[in-house]
Formats: sequence, structure tokens, C-alpha cells
Amino acid sequence: MGDMVVVRKEGLYCVPGDFYIDPWRPVERAVITHAHGDHARYGSQRYLTAAPGVGVLRARMGEDAAIDGLAYGEKVVHNGVTVSLHPAGHVLGSSQVRMECGGEVWVASGDYKVEADKTCTPFEPVRCHSFITESTFGLPIYRWEPEQDIFDDINGWWRKNAEQGRCSVVFAYAFGKAQRILSGIDPSIGPVVCHGAVEPLSRAYRAEGVPLPPTVMVTDIDKAALRRALVIAPPSAAGSTWMRRFGDYSDAFASGWMLLRGARRRRSVDRGFVLSDHADWPGLMTAIRATEAQRIIVTHGSIPVMVRWLCEQGLDAAGFETEYGDEDEAVSAEASDA
Ligand SMILES: [Zn+2]
Ligand SMILES: [Zn+2]
Repeated sequence: MGDMVVVRKEGLYCVPGDFYIDPWRPVERAVITHAHGDHARYGSQRYLTAAPGVGVLRARMGEDAAIDGLAYGEKVVHNGVTVSLHPAGHVLGSSQVRMECGGEVWVASGDYKVEADKTCTPFEPVRCHSFITESTFGLPIYRWEPEQDIFDDINGWWRKNAEQGRCSVVFAYAFGKAQRILSGIDPSIGPVVCHGAVEPLSRAYRAEGVPLPPTVMVTDIDKAALRRALVIAPPSAAGSTWMRRFGDYSDAFASGWMLLRGARRRRSVDRGFVLSDHADWPGLMTAIRATEAQRIIVTHGSIPVMVRWLCEQGLDAAGFETEYGDEDEAVSAEASDA
């Protein structure tokens, strides 16, 4: 049998199953690993995604999209290929796609994170012959601190600002990162204000039973209370008129790219919190080893470095050119020349 998954102009294609995984062009059947914009695109006829992610995918695709949910681990057979979805630990409803046909098993990871957090089902290693892995942070310099250490830093910064009567603003991607921060903050410090782009996604998380602290919209809070508030806003809000109401605020950016000093400087924020929803270098290596796959196909990120390193480990590694980006793309583009 030839390769079970290949790259076509529409996206990653499962040959015997005749379906696509996270296609970047409209297709008949799309399996979606998660609802970030670079993996979940409009226009396909049918979508299949993990059940906890149906709400967020529908929020992106609209009411008319044909979306089927599949519970984690549940199997469906499509054209002789047994398909199941397994937690990827990246954002709510994120999954790895397991495909089995004629005794051969392939897994496509989508985006994943190995460290467990409170906002989504933890990453589950899946044994396979061939593993398609992301490589967003696929350089040995990327090593994350435990998330609790980052949350302690965020809470400490917020508390100090609140004591000084200054509002604290964290810029974070609206889907995933924002809810991750919410899951780790100490709401006893002050009120928590979410930007209008963040709130609907938090609602989807709460609807799936993810406990998040109470949040308010900026219109629901008086000016005096704002001085003790933590504000969570998408990066696009930086420099907008929406920010004016916060007066002399302190600001921060939360992203894995904040590990690079250049990225923080270019964002010209007071603080950078290194918090990522992707696996760091040790995480990628742990995940790859746990699959026991002999064949590794590397997508979006540091393809040449990872492929070379994996080949040196005796694995059969190669890259796939995809059109996936990163939800913090703007930051990474700035960081790449840092
Ligand atoms: Zn993603
Ligand atoms: Zn991605």
C-alpha cells in the first residue's frame, strides 16, 4: 500500500478514506483537528470534529455548516478506513486523527500540547506506524516553565498593579490562550474584564463544563473598579480606541514567542508571559517517542531542524509543506528575525 496520507493542493488527504484533514481549500469531507482559523476553513461540504469542539467550530463556520461531532475514542469507518479522534491538549475540542486501514495506522496530530491544563482534555499518546507532527516550537531553545509558575507571575503582576490603582491589560489570542489565562488567575484580586472577541469563546468553554471565573464586559463596570481590573483582549485591540478607557494601564502579552526578547520589545508591552498552547521541544520529543512510530512527517514550524534531528535518532523523517500558520502568527513573524 502507498502512503495513507499525502499532501494535495487542497490539504492533507487520506487516500483510501477519500477525505481531508484540516484542508485549506473547500472539499467534500473535512476532518477538523481544532477550530483555529488556519486549521478550520470555510466552504467544505461536511465537517467531522471532536464532540467538545462542535460549539467553537460552529461559532466559526456559522449555523448552516454541516458539522458532525465524534466523541474522543469513538470509531467510525469511512471507505474502509477506521477513523477516531484523540485529545491533543491544545484548545477545547482539539484532536489528533487516527486512521487505520489494512493493519496500518497513521496519526495526524494537528496542533498539540503535552502539559495538561484545566481548559481541555489532556493530550493522549496514540501508537501508530506513521505520525504527522506539528513543529511550531521545534527548536531546542523552546522549553516552557510549568503553567502554574506563569500564572503566579501573572497574578503577582496584576496584584501589584491593582495596589497601585492601575489597570492590567493582557493581550492574548481570543480562542484558547484567553481561556487558559482565565483558568489560572486569582479572581480575588479584582474584577476580570473580557473584550467582546473573547467573551463568546469563553461562553463556549463554559457550555462544555470548563470552569472559568466570572468575567464582565467593559460596559458593565464603573471607571473606579477598572483601576483594579484585569483586562483580557486580543492582540488586535492593542493601540485601538477601545483601549483609551483604561487610562494609565500596564500591559502584557502572553505567547510562547515571548521567550524571544525581540518579540517582546517589538510588541512594546511592559511584560511578556511565556505561555503557549503548543508543545515545547521536550514535549514534541516525548510525544513523538510515545507514538512508537518509525516514520515521522513534520509540518508547520521548524521542519528542517526537526527532520534532521529525528533522522539522527534513526527515524524515517520527512516534511510536508502545508498552509498552516500559528494563531500568534503576527508575533512569530516579528520574532523570526529577532
Ligand atoms: Zn491551533
Ligand atoms: Zn496550527
